[in-house]
Amino acid sequence: AWFQDLRLQRVFALLNADGGEGRVVGGAVRNSLMGIPVSDIDVATTLTPDTVTQRAKADGIKAIPTGVEHGTVTLVIEGKPFEVTTLRTDVETDGRRAKVAFSTNWQADAERRDFTINALYMNSKGEVVDLVGGLADIEKRNIRFIGDAAARIAEDYLRILRFFRFFAHYGSGRPDAEGLRACSAARSKLSTLSSERVWSELRKLLAAEDPGRALLWMRQVAVLSEVLPETEKWGIDAIPALVATEKALSWRPDPLLRLASIVPPDAERLERMAVRLRFSNAEAAYFRAWAAARPVDDEMSAAAFDRLLYRNGAEGIATRLKLALAVARGKAEGNMEEMSRSARLGKLLAQALAWRKPKFPIGGGDVISTGIPAGPRVGETLAKLESQWVDENFAADRAALLARLNELSK
Ligand code: ATP
Ligand code: MG
Repeated sequence: AWFQDLRLQRVFALLNADGGEGRVVGGAVRNSLMGIPVSDIDVATTLTPDTVTQRAKADGIKAIPTGVEHGTVTLVIEGKPFEVTTLRTDVETDGRRAKVAFSTNWQADAERRDFTINALYMNSKGEVVDLVGGLADIEKRNIRFIGDAAARIAEDYLRILRFFRFFAHYGSGRPDAEGLRACSAARSKLSTLSSERVWSELRKLLAAEDPGRALLWMRQVAVLSEVLPETEKWGIDAIPALVATEKALSWRPDPLLRLASIVPPDAERLERMAVRLRFSNAEAAYFRAWAAARPVDDEMSAAAFDRLLYRNGAEGIATRLKLALAVARGKAEGNMEEMSRSARLGKLLAQALAWRKPKFPIGGGDVISTGIPAGPRVGETLAKLESQWVDENFAADRAALLARLNELSK
């Protein structure tokens, strides 16, 4: 269905006129051959970025230069983006980013890509063009470097992580032996990559349906500790139970929760990890909330748990409960105790996820109008009343609290 999309057909019409050519490449071709939904569509073309832009403009299509130095122009047709990139050949490389030149040579363009399964093209007739033996690897679900693995890794060390990322998503059986060996041999070079690129690959790896096998292989060949030394003492054994629990309870696969399951809940180390991998503010906040969340006694009453949520915030506690629930469920088979613990944790988790922080019904203005002068006493008075209010399970309403405030100010 993605291929029949009239907007894609417009892209083909634009590029294939007057001696040019465009072909879909990369993830879209790979996924559709594997029967996996296609999300974004990358297109390779023999035309230069300038020509693509001119033709688009003449056709009333929006053309955004999204990576001029890479030769990428994004065409937006009725809201759908197509990344159109001019064929390239590698001219030199520094191991961090390949330097490239534009070309009209499909074979050379295929050969500068990373894996055979990522170098398949689909032309405007829907025919697959395989220049590097990618179809056979699609069949075998084999992630194989194009050409000499060690040499391809030395051009761009990020390919080590991409190898495991694509294995996590699409691989089966054992990883390709030559690739695995070459990744392991070059592992110390991972530290030369920019943190953004490393974390972006890791996040994608962790988002795979089951990242467990890939992580095991990464640990096996000592790649994991290069990028996530936190896992060294902690281990990655929690992943299978977490993945099983996500499936059973229909949780959306969450890369952050998966990462939390394999690193120690130590605030200082997590802070350092966030800095090292350049987490976004939201990602750093997620780990901070988790580290700050107090352990939850699963036999706690619903009322006591409400009070804990008010004082601790629900986000970190929900993370804690999800991880505890996965562990308990992992041990629950044939174990009554863990089974009932799972039930209790599940209940608390539902409460945490549905929880909305109630608003404390009085404020500083109310305190001042009772005659207490503006200053530290205002805050102290409010804090005292709020704490009582929480201890009494949020029962007192505004009128009751104002009455209590008047008592206090006498
Ligand atoms: P998805 O978008 O589903 O994550 P994709 O295969 O489309 O997968 P992109 O990162 O969008 O991945 O890259 C598009 C294509 O560009 C890849 O399929 C591959 O052919 C090539 N490519 C991307 N990054 C590299 C790299 N570091 N080295 C070599 N080729 C690469
Ligand atoms: Mg893509």
